[in-house]
Amino acid sequence: MKVIRFAKELHRELKQIKQRDKSIGFVPTMGALHQGHLSLIEKAKQENDIVVCSIFVNPTQFNNSSDLDTYPISIEQDKALLLESQCDFLYLPTVEDVYPQGPISDSYMFSGIEHEMEGKHRPGHFDGVATVVKRLFDICIPDRAYFGEKDFQQLRIIQELISQTEQRIEIIPCSIFREQDGLAMSSRNRKLSQTQREQAPEIYKALKHLKENLKYNDISDLLKNLKHSINKQSELELEYIEVADISSLKSASNIQEDHKYRAFIAVFAGDIRLIDNIALNY
Ligand code: AMP
Repeated sequence: MKVIRFAKELHRELKQIKQRDKSIGFVPTMGALHQGHLSLIEKAKQENDIVVCSIFVNPTQFNNSSDLDTYPISIEQDKALLLESQCDFLYLPTVEDVYPQGPISDSYMFSGIEHEMEGKHRPGHFDGVATVVKRLFDICIPDRAYFGEKDFQQLRIIQELISQTEQRIEIIPCSIFREQDGLAMSSRNRKLSQTQREQAPEIYKALKHLKENLKYNDISDLLKNLKHSINKQSELELEYIEVADISSLKSASNIQEDHKYRAFIAVFAGDIRLIDNIALNY
């Protein structure tokens, strides 16, 4: 695996690879890699000649500076995992390399999906995400890019970003990888205390409960009860739980047969923010 720190050098290498008619699969990450990330690498490996992974903790997508300052970093372990997964290139840039003009986001307008859920609770987050992903796509010129459904709203934003640009990149959604007790894998899980870690599976339990009881109950009653059951845990505090149409991401109070819905949740465990979601009727 080649580790490259400079955009120009990586771009030059990848351009040569494309000229030889080889396909490039790209997996952008912020590092502290786990099995969820590795499942994206594996899929990219199966579907492309060359796989590029980036590890970059993007400052412009953090609306909370202490979250940025305490974001877990484990570069040596990440490199070993990528090597084992037979990743071909690791792009490991500095902030200056990604943002030569300084870390500032562009402003994006999507179809309104940027204002829902994470957009409401993390102002500026999706501008930061779209800015960095656009830049990484320009550098890595992938044929396919892999994004986890764990960050479903982000995946939808990237799909819209691609439809707004000239870039012909296939966006490949990847299923959520979970711990045995159901907790969605996340780099931030490393920061949980023992008690927080013990209580965190309640998040997925709530989503599953919602899915299983949707047919027989009123959505708003279910959501109210789930808010209570999350907040009953001493270390957890619900930020939001919503049922939303996967196309508009607008909150829904009833299910229409010809639409697809997911439930979305954000919970604080102390100051660690965890998100998850589940497909409801498809
Ligand atoms: P991150 O490093 O958290 O920015 O994540 C990088 C990519 O991995 C994103 O596309 C995430 O959605 C995806 N990802 C993170 N956690 C998981 C998971 N548990 N299952 C599947 N994909 C994931």
